[in-house]
Amino acid sequence: TTSAPEPDCLFCSIVEGKIPAEIVARSENVVAFADINPQAPVHVLVVPTEHHGEVAQLAAARPEVLAELVALAEQVAGEQADGQFRLVFNSGPQAGQSVFHVHGHVLGGTSLGGRFA
Ligand code: 5GP
Ligand code: ZN
Repeated sequence: TTSAPEPDCLFCSIVEGKIPAEIVARSENVVAFADINPQAPVHVLVVPTEHHGEVAQLAAARPEVLAELVALAEQVAGEQADGQFRLVFNSGPQAGQSVFHVHGHVLGGTSLGGRFA
């Protein structure tokens, strides 16, 4: 975990505007953008502007930013998904994490069912 931009980090590059993304909302320390490969009618990623690898590291280092991230997820869901959403953090490759800059998946816009996978 670090607060400096990581040169080879995809989501640091999106936060910095070096790689384009469909930004849908921002707050002081969090950016929300559309997932490039959506798995639900609403699939938005919420990421801290600071680089942290995994959600537990963010929670330990910057708990107020994690709270801000959840608030922005709810705002986006309010705008796009009737305020109802699933918020998923994959932590570690075995859990499906492929980008090692914390991101919450905000999923909604349909009945998601009762499964987690
Ligand atoms: P993970 O597998 O790490 O939990 O989630 C990474 C997510 O990032 C995936 O849902 C994937 O579709 C998304 N993604 C990967 N590359 C890009 C990109 O260049 N732009 C955007 N907007 N999303 C991306
Ligand atoms: Zn990063």
